[in-house]
Amino acid sequence: MKAYVKRILGLLSLLCLIGIQGMMASAAEVQDVRLWTAPDHTRVVFDLDRRVDYEVFRLHKPERVVIDMKHAKINKIASLALPDPVIKSVRYGEPKKGVLRIVLDIQKENIGLRTFLLKPMQGKPHRLVVDLTRKESKLVAQPKKMVTKNTRHDIVIAVDAGHGGEDPGAIGRHGLKEKDFTLRVAKKLAALINSKPGMRAVLTRKGDYFVPLRKRVRLARKAGANLMISIHADAVKTRSVQGASVYTLAERGATPDRVAVALAAKENAADEIGGVMLSQEVDDPMVRNILGDMAKRDSLNSSQLLAENMLLQMKKVGSIKYKTPKRARFVVLTALEIPSVLVELNFISNPKQERKMKTRKHQDRLAAALYQASKNFFLRMGMMDSKSSASSS
Ligand SMILES: [Zn+2]
Repeated sequence: MKAYVKRILGLLSLLCLIGIQGMMASAAEVQDVRLWTAPDHTRVVFDLDRRVDYEVFRLHKPERVVIDMKHAKINKIASLALPDPVIKSVRYGEPKKGVLRIVLDIQKENIGLRTFLLKPMQGKPHRLVVDLTRKESKLVAQPKKMVTKNTRHDIVIAVDAGHGGEDPGAIGRHGLKEKDFTLRVAKKLAALINSKPGMRAVLTRKGDYFVPLRKRVRLARKAGANLMISIHADAVKTRSVQGASVYTLAERGATPDRVAVALAAKENAADEIGGVMLSQEVDDPMVRNILGDMAKRDSLNSSQLLAENMLLQMKKVGSIKYKTPKRARFVVLTALEIPSVLVELNFISNPKQERKMKTRKHQDRLAAALYQASKNFFLRMGMMDSKSSASSS
């Protein structure tokens, strides 16, 4: 009894030291929950007003993933797009005082579990990310039919829709999100490519979920891509700025272009915003330079040729910001053996352009311009004969 009183007194003095108010307000609050369904995983993201201590474990029969957050509370769970291929439903309760338990009822036994915390950045609060990975990935970025008979000799183009999922990219004044716009144009471009005999598109992203930058590069490599086009839309504070621009990878040690370097920093931040567990993607040997200088130079030269062609085509469907391609160290362009370009189709921050970008007609024209530039590139490279390339344009 005595010891008990002592402990209480001790605790009270501690409370005085820390300040009672601080203690009272210490429960973390789950402010929002989002769910993203990717072909190989489902990601659940909890927005928190502060860092939280948590535990994640599996329970069986029925299959569940349980997330216990200490000193946490939630008001309500936002409506999520359920059921998803992995998650049937989401519930929550308070099994012990001060413990918030979130239960994900899952439909599959064979899943992997990966969780990590993300620090606040770019307007996003503390986040707890729970990834449920699955092996079967029938949905994985593969073109459906429309592939011609001679699949083995098809020219393959990796079409990369920038951003996705947790990472919306730039957002226009009228609410158009870069990630939605890039996906629409990417799908249109892929459809054009797939309608051409001898050409095939591989989309690095097919829906609204996040794909780490290095994984996009890996997907292009795995598909044996002959070309990679990463599609984006730019944004700046000044509303009047407009025009398309095209970028290629700068060689190490090249004189930095201030504008391009700033843009690359912005685009390369996608991983932190979209949520990449650091150990998972930071040092990926696949991304290290694996080619000799000669091959690198060849590929950089081809990228330049493609970029110039792309600007020429972009000029026909709208204004361009810079007359020549710019260079910087974009992570998504690091597949040195694949000619790769990143195109900023226009400024989503320009309300007039944003309105245009929302229309299907303009998206069609942009996709057609990218398609034409790719065809011209293969023609110039001698990978396509003029007869077949002229047959549909
Ligand atoms: Zn972007």
